[in-house]
Amino acid sequence: MNIYTGKTVYKGIALGPIHLFKREAPIKRRKIADSRAESERLAAAVEAAKGELQALYDKAAAEVGEDSAAIFEVHRMMLDDEDFRAAVQNLIEKESVNAEYAVSVTGDNFAEMFAGMDDEYMKARASDVRDIARRLVRCLRGERGESGADLPPSIIVADDLTPSETVQLDKGKILAFVTAHGSFNSHTSILARTMNIPALIGVPFEAGMLREGALAAVDGYRGEFIAEPDGETLASVQKRLEQERENDALLQTLKGRENVTKDGKKIEVYANVGSVSDVAYALENDAGGIGLFRSEFLYIGRSAPPSEEEQYQAYKQVLQIMAGKKVVIRTLDIGADKQADYLGLEREENPALGFRAIRICLTRPEIFKPQLRALFRAARNGNLSVMYPMITSVEEVEKIRAIAREVEEELREEKIPFAVPEQGIMVETPAAAVISDELAKHVDFFSIGTNDLTQYTLAADRQNEKLEGFCNPHHEAILRLIEMTVKNGHKAGIWVGICGELGADLSLTREFIRMGVDELSVSPAMILKLRKNIVEMNAD
Ligand code: PEP
Ligand code: MG
Repeated sequence: MNIYTGKTVYKGIALGPIHLFKREAPIKRRKIADSRAESERLAAAVEAAKGELQALYDKAAAEVGEDSAAIFEVHRMMLDDEDFRAAVQNLIEKESVNAEYAVSVTGDNFAEMFAGMDDEYMKARASDVRDIARRLVRCLRGERGESGADLPPSIIVADDLTPSETVQLDKGKILAFVTAHGSFNSHTSILARTMNIPALIGVPFEAGMLREGALAAVDGYRGEFIAEPDGETLASVQKRLEQERENDALLQTLKGRENVTKDGKKIEVYANVGSVSDVAYALENDAGGIGLFRSEFLYIGRSAPPSEEEQYQAYKQVLQIMAGKKVVIRTLDIGADKQADYLGLEREENPALGFRAIRICLTRPEIFKPQLRALFRAARNGNLSVMYPMITSVEEVEKIRAIAREVEEELREEKIPFAVPEQGIMVETPAAAVISDELAKHVDFFSIGTNDLTQYTLAADRQNEKLEGFCNPHHEAILRLIEMTVKNGHKAGIWVGICGELGADLSLTREFIRMGVDELSVSPAMILKLRKNIVEMNAD
């Protein structure tokens, strides 16, 4: 038995086999003696990759429909592309190199060729080719598919996980996350909280000491990861797991109750979600609405942006499921740790201070407008609010409003039915908080993004685990900016919510109610805990 202690991202107990998540190792060039054997290896890998893609197609077709699954069919066909296969074969034979290297080099060459084309459709194929090459290399190495389709429910142990790696994992197969690195407010941590999955970061495990498939436990209350627990520890973990189930059952009794303090102060409690399927977690936990739908997760982990139609269907589905409850959908907030290769964004020195979110949307209308069209069309199906991220000035809001008016005009001309939703902004830069009196005159609501507001106010990168000791989430500067934003919003007659992780900090709930915050939007798993806190307190 080995016990490692880390930092809890989401409390909870898990017990199950370890799955060691491996990021692909670098591909080395090797001289081979037998090019025929190497070609046979390649042929076998192509067949294995086709099998994986068929399984992915079947899964996606059943879960999200044939249109979204079509990409896997395209990948399967691309594996048979004669030019690609001939180029790989040529390298193996003429240069006597290993198949992994030949596939990788050919993948890069083809991707570059596609990226250089004028046609937007062909440009977008660049990341497909890279994906296919990566899959083939994995198959050549005899590694499992990335979706973990053949894994039993497991404790995922990784050095670190990016948001796109996290979203690609099969949620039904994850019992817990344990990572050596990462930070509390990273999007990977946020995803763990959304999914109600116990998660630890900063766990100093020695990978060599862990066996794939060995039994392990995660105790998120104590921040412990226990590999191969002995009999006594196992019995104690099983007992705590039982207790946790009983506590969950008690929390369930709060369903249907209003979020009102003993002295009669009411506050809305909504859910933060990252996908259409997460909406089920919101309903399961009795959310009053969706306070933040992070639409960028529709864009990452794939090789081309979602079409207007695909987005329309997704937003419409969320609105219909929420049946008249408020749904706040945030427009694309990509950049920094959330990347999509097909956007062709350059690497930046300071990505968190870089070309991201609304800055991309305002300079690339071909990305922004289809999203707005999809949102405005979907608005007829429920109670939609659209929210714009990373705002720093009134000018940005005016530009957004102008683009939104153009979208309305176009839809009207095309005789496509739509409705104009409530439109608000995230207050997540110190600039926006400081000029919130001005901004409030131009928008319908504010939602305070404390994750970014904290990193920008305290000049502390939210991704950098070394800074956590320097980054006090209760810093007076942040609390004052929040209070100021609430006051300025109310003066202009608009509602003000909090959708950053601080909204779920139970030690601040009374303070937020005292400030007059109208709504707290939190990870679904925190809703009933927050409600318990509210109904048991006197606000004054
Ligand atoms: C925030 O910054 O607080 C927020 C809610 O947005 P995200 O965490 O997605 O950046
Ligand atoms: Mg943010």
